[in-house]
Amino acid sequence: MEQLANNLWRLEIPLVGSPLKTLNSYLILGQERSLLIDTGFRQRPCREAMEEQLTALGVDRNRLDIFLTHLHSDHAGLAPELVPESGKIYISHTDGPGVSEAVDDDCWRRLYAAYLREGFSKEETDGLWNSNPAQTAAPKNWRYTPLKDGDVLTYGSHTLQCVLTPGHTPGHMCLYEPKEGWLFSGDHILFHITPNICRWERLPDALGSYLESLERVEKLRVKLLLPAHRGERGDLVQRISELKEHHAKRLASALSIVQQNPDLNACEIAGLMQWSIRCRDWESFPLTQKFFAVGEALSHLDHLEAEGKIFHEEVCSINRYRTV
Ligand SMILES: [Zn+2]
Repeated sequence: MEQLANNLWRLEIPLVGSPLKTLNSYLILGQERSLLIDTGFRQRPCREAMEEQLTALGVDRNRLDIFLTHLHSDHAGLAPELVPESGKIYISHTDGPGVSEAVDDDCWRRLYAAYLREGFSKEETDGLWNSNPAQTAAPKNWRYTPLKDGDVLTYGSHTLQCVLTPGHTPGHMCLYEPKEGWLFSGDHILFHITPNICRWERLPDALGSYLESLERVEKLRVKLLLPAHRGERGDLVQRISELKEHHAKRLASALSIVQQNPDLNACEIAGLMQWSIRCRDWESFPLTQKFFAVGEALSHLDHLEAEGKIFHEEVCSINRYRTV
């Protein structure tokens, strides 16, 4: 627990088994009502850490609302159980419905079927079925109040502007407090690690959207950047230029892999890309990490397709990629 400013706290929530290690949950204390930003997995270690810190800060749950930067279960998982029915759970109108999809078996069946077309084996998607926290630690009894870009929330003396930043998820949303120069950047901007950008059914070119969303926040006057993971903080403009450079390099590397090895599937292409995860080789990647890595490779392939540089063809139910 860390006090960042008068009435602004950072709570630290452990994410057991996730390479992200912890979630930063932020709390803005107001006279009337307070706002909690992001919550943690629907799992015991998250619940205990959250309960302990809210109690230590004397937070009255009957006067607490929640804002979720996006639908991922490490952010949304605990939300419905932390506040009574009278408490609002805010999330963008685009990501709100996606939370219920995370506990809908049909949606997962569709997603895993799509991953089979990208070169995953049936054993792998079967193995993911009960181990993917995106599926198992998502909220139960989901309810929400939708927000759109430009909406404003007021807590204490703080007016918070909603800035829609699609990319990491279809409806990722940052919160901006212009008076203090606070930007709650969720997983849109992180330090130390690069936000995972993967393919989404509802967002045809996720990486293209992400790069556009970086431009959206670059213009904001930010004094305190508040990312959702890890303790590091730093300069917004500098970090955005690093993130853009990172993706430019990844795009170039994906393009050259496709150029040199025509007709590979996305799994095989991902296996040839560089990954920062500490692992002997692609075969020994933990299944969940492999799932994220292939999702990320797909977002780069989709962007290259949108740019007209590559195309794919389905051969015997598997998508194979080639340069134009
Ligand atoms: Zn996320």
